[in-house]
Amino acid sequence: MEHRIWNPTMECMPRDQLRALQDERLRDVVRRVYENVPFYRNKMQQMGITPMDIRGVCDIERLPFTEKQDLRDHYPFGLFAVPQTEIVRIHASSGTTGKPTVVGYTGGDIDRWAELMARSMYCANIGKHDIVQVAYGYGLFTGGLGAHYGAERVGASVIPISGGNTTRQLLLIQDFGSTALCCTPSYALNLAEALQAEGVHHTKLKSGIFGAEPWTEAMREKIEEMLGIDAINIYGLSEVMGPGVSVECMCKKGMHIWEDHFLPEVIGPDGHGLPYGEQGDLTFTTLTKHGMPLLRYRTHDLCTLTDEPCECGRTHVRMGRVMGRTDDMLIIRGVNVFPSQVEHALLQVEGIVPQYQIVVERSGNLDTMEVQVELSPAFMSDTVKDMEALEAKIVNSIASHALVHATVKLCQPGTLPRSEGKAKRVIDKRQL
Ligand code: ADP
Ligand code: ZN
Repeated sequence: MEHRIWNPTMECMPRDQLRALQDERLRDVVRRVYENVPFYRNKMQQMGITPMDIRGVCDIERLPFTEKQDLRDHYPFGLFAVPQTEIVRIHASSGTTGKPTVVGYTGGDIDRWAELMARSMYCANIGKHDIVQVAYGYGLFTGGLGAHYGAERVGASVIPISGGNTTRQLLLIQDFGSTALCCTPSYALNLAEALQAEGVHHTKLKSGIFGAEPWTEAMREKIEEMLGIDAINIYGLSEVMGPGVSVECMCKKGMHIWEDHFLPEVIGPDGHGLPYGEQGDLTFTTLTKHGMPLLRYRTHDLCTLTDEPCECGRTHVRMGRVMGRTDDMLIIRGVNVFPSQVEHALLQVEGIVPQYQIVVERSGNLDTMEVQVELSPAFMSDTVKDMEALEAKIVNSIASHALVHATVKLCQPGTLPRSEGKAKRVIDKRQL
């Protein structure tokens, strides 16, 4: 397989050189936040350290963590490290889990983001010959504009259609001959379904860059098969930059974190860094951001890292799939369940499609979980349908893959709500 690399000097830099660069950039960002952000200066003073104490990555654990709550406490602009006159863009998280968090970018930040998204486009084999349909939402959410600037940077023809309006999405895929699609995996599945429903079996699509929400390997296979594309996983969060913090290469074996810009750590329950291979809370220090640099930002996304060499030639560490952030984890009668485990369980069973919703309730002192999932059109057209057997299969699959007992409600095709951006998988009635 041929691997196209946007910036070989940086992406394939020997790890000792990369570390030296990180050391230098870490010293720089620590100095910048100490001088310009009272929150960090106070924290560091309380801890009895000054920028002089940080020699490089080896001293990372001496620096304070940053939590989402710290961003909320300084809402909206309190953590910016430059005067407002230098801020050229403001984004905010969609507030999936509470009040939005706000991020500011300088012109340089926007330029670096476009560069990293350009690297990411090349990772998915997208270049100037491509027509890129950006179906991530444009707006305060970072997905749309993030993908847009990256696709332009590699010279692709960008269609800034934004999320939603599925009928129009299908029209443009066919009439404009889009070769690449950028959106959430749940929306990619919806578009794939809608194409099939219209009897469209061939398009020019060849690759997709999907992220912004958890998805499974089984979902990848499903989307790849339905759309006839390579489906590449991309990760990011607005606080740290937006999409393009990490992305898979065509090897599809974990997402390369752009380590010349972001210093990752995986933190264990005791608050200390874990070695490669162990699962913990992914934490980032931004090395080159000027508008709103963050030290040791706790994403609460659980994952593992590996520094094993990748066949593509890039040297940057890879992170495994994120099951979901710890806030998304459900606790059902004492068992920890991630919606993505349920997704994996559902994709093992024939006769249904991975359109699902999880409803959690409390009856008396007991939590109950109901998984609503749609029957596949193929199952519906079968003359003999054994609904009970199918239901039992699903219950068993959930029990063995998510280790929890759930009741299952089979729904008619097309009846569950369709997502146009991040899918809402869980309805937790216990909090109502
Ligand atoms: P919000 O916090 O409002 O949801 P963001 O778009 O910043 O807004 O969300 C970032 C979060 O989305 C990440 O912390 C992570 O939990 C999730 N996420 C992003 N990309 C992926 C991905 N490829 N796989 C799994 N989760 C992802
Ligand atoms: Zn690779």
